[in-house]
Amino acid sequence: MRSVAPNKFDRAFSRHLLQEGGIELLPEESLNDAAVVACAECFENEGLRLGAAGVGREHSSLCPRCGAIGGAKLTKRSLAALAQSFFVRGSVHRTEFGAAPLIKFNDKRATDIGACPGWPSGDAALFEEILKIGFFWYGPPEWQVGINENLAKIEQEDEREQVIARILQAYPSEVLTEADKFYRLRKVPGDAYALGKFDSTDCDQFDSPPLPAKSEDAGRLDSPNLPVLYGSPDLQTCLHECRVTVEDALFLATLRPVRELKLLNLASFPDEPPSHPCEDLDHAMVMLFLAGPHAYPISRAIARAARDAGYDGLVYPSFFSMLRNGVQPFESYFGLSNRSISELRPMEAAKMIPNLAIFGRPIQEGMLTVTCINRVILHKATYSIHFGPAGL
Ligand SMILES: [Zn+2]
Repeated sequence: MRSVAPNKFDRAFSRHLLQEGGIELLPEESLNDAAVVACAECFENEGLRLGAAGVGREHSSLCPRCGAIGGAKLTKRSLAALAQSFFVRGSVHRTEFGAAPLIKFNDKRATDIGACPGWPSGDAALFEEILKIGFFWYGPPEWQVGINENLAKIEQEDEREQVIARILQAYPSEVLTEADKFYRLRKVPGDAYALGKFDSTDCDQFDSPPLPAKSEDAGRLDSPNLPVLYGSPDLQTCLHECRVTVEDALFLATLRPVRELKLLNLASFPDEPPSHPCEDLDHAMVMLFLAGPHAYPISRAIARAARDAGYDGLVYPSFFSMLRNGVQPFESYFGLSNRSISELRPMEAAKMIPNLAIFGRPIQEGMLTVTCINRVILHKATYSIHFGPAGL
């Protein structure tokens, strides 16, 4: 006799799948057809046209939909990739902690996005007809928009210490040796450099910046009683972190430890048994470091506690990790966080750029040595972009 449980599971799973979507949930066989189904000229929306030109392949054939000759032609698979890029990734909305797409699509329901300013309904119909999909407003899992019990606790000043004690226990340490090197960039107003107000050969110029008078003026990890030297082994991240412009004079110091430096590695996964992303430490920490200045009082408290526990500094995920790597934060599969799936953890780890924060004044204190100083010139800037619907 068949038990009742599988039926209940099947029903619950079917209901769950109605609410989930994205290219990864479309049946593989539905995308395998190599025939041309549309082209960039089929779209009215300029973002979709440009996106289609990016994912399609130039071909001299006639478009079976609009009749255009030549241009970027799309198969079902490239059309699905365009739907994912434009409607799902293009509708990602950041919350205080976390981020989630507003729109998803699947092959199990009809489009239920009504008249909404900016919604390209004519173009959406092309995807609906060819891919047999519907677009819908996505209700993300709570963890994806920053609901996490450790995050909620660490935001409360009276519970912060308890969570920080757990962080110090759970995260591994990493040792930087004399063989390691990393970079620190200084941004100087161009006219100040021209007027000789900045000596670019002075190593001390690359030590931790002066202490802020008020705690609200401090950065992500420094405090009025804790100077911090920020650096990164990744040069592009240094440029992003310093918000450089073409008008600035830029100087790069190459730094090496003089002795072994013991750092708390917050860019790693914590050593704790797996638990739900609304309850674990891992999601709390990633969301904290990918958040803006409202998260700084918390990250500064973690830095002070690490210093008090004897660490020389921190390794932490760069705020610009996603931009640098062109990837999405908080990705999920069937609504499950990729970070919670052990097979996907190496991929998630690779998304993060590990920045370095060394406590105190490490150059003056002889912990770091400046091995080289270079002027940096911004030669050319290009942006990699994709599009999404406006007005959501
Ligand atoms: Zn066409």
